[in-house]
Amino acid sequence: MSAGSAAVVAIDGPAGTGKSTVARGLAAALGLRYLDTGAMYRVVTLAVLRSGVALDDADGISAVAQGVEVSVESTPEGDHAYLAGEDVSREIRGDEVTRAVSAVAAVPAVRTRLVAIQQQLAAQGGGVVVEGRDIGTVVLPDADVKIFLTASAETRARRRNDQNIAAGLRDDYAGVLADVLRRDELDSTRAVSPLRPADDAVIVDTSDMTQEQVVDHLRDLVEQHCGAIR
Ligand code: C5P
Repeated sequence: MSAGSAAVVAIDGPAGTGKSTVARGLAAALGLRYLDTGAMYRVVTLAVLRSGVALDDADGISAVAQGVEVSVESTPEGDHAYLAGEDVSREIRGDEVTRAVSAVAAVPAVRTRLVAIQQQLAAQGGGVVVEGRDIGTVVLPDADVKIFLTASAETRARRRNDQNIAAGLRDDYAGVLADVLRRDELDSTRAVSPLRPADDAVIVDTSDMTQEQVVDHLRDLVEQHCGAIR
């Protein structure tokens, strides 16, 4: 068994830092479960959009959040997200959900509901890598290792735009940069659980690193930590 076998690792940071790929890679390298909390906010957002509730109607969004049935699953073959049992893994990555998710995630009742589910999932034992915006600060303040990934907005927009092009979407660096900046602003200035590093987080700037380098670096950090607490 690896040194990280029972570690609880929190990975936070803004969009476009390579967080999801790195968190998945780290979980695989250490034999830990992986939990993508952003996918859960996206599922609730899809439920809100389908219900026709307006994005500025906090009460309406809260009501949707109370009744929504969200689940996520990570397997070696891929990750899945479900809304009331329906596999919505593709739909939650679409533009409509991406544009709306920060507004939905800013509603306190949405966060209360999802944080409780995330804490239960993380407590199932065996160690886990949990990825999001508020994992080290709110969801798992006692995580063994807290990592905050950063990269310049330009680097993050370039990466996102390259991913879009590879996925057959149009080349729109300026549009992607504007969206990255808008989401940063919304996520870091919201009243509830704003995006910020925990005081005890290790900050890793990924601007000049490949994803493999980031995974290796984080793996070293977790193994050092687990060695230190033995
Ligand atoms: O990570 P991803 O880009 O899929 O997250 C989508 C959105 O969900 C973020 O922009 C943020 O608004 C919200 N989110 C959050 N707290 C988390 C994870 C995601 O507010 N723990």
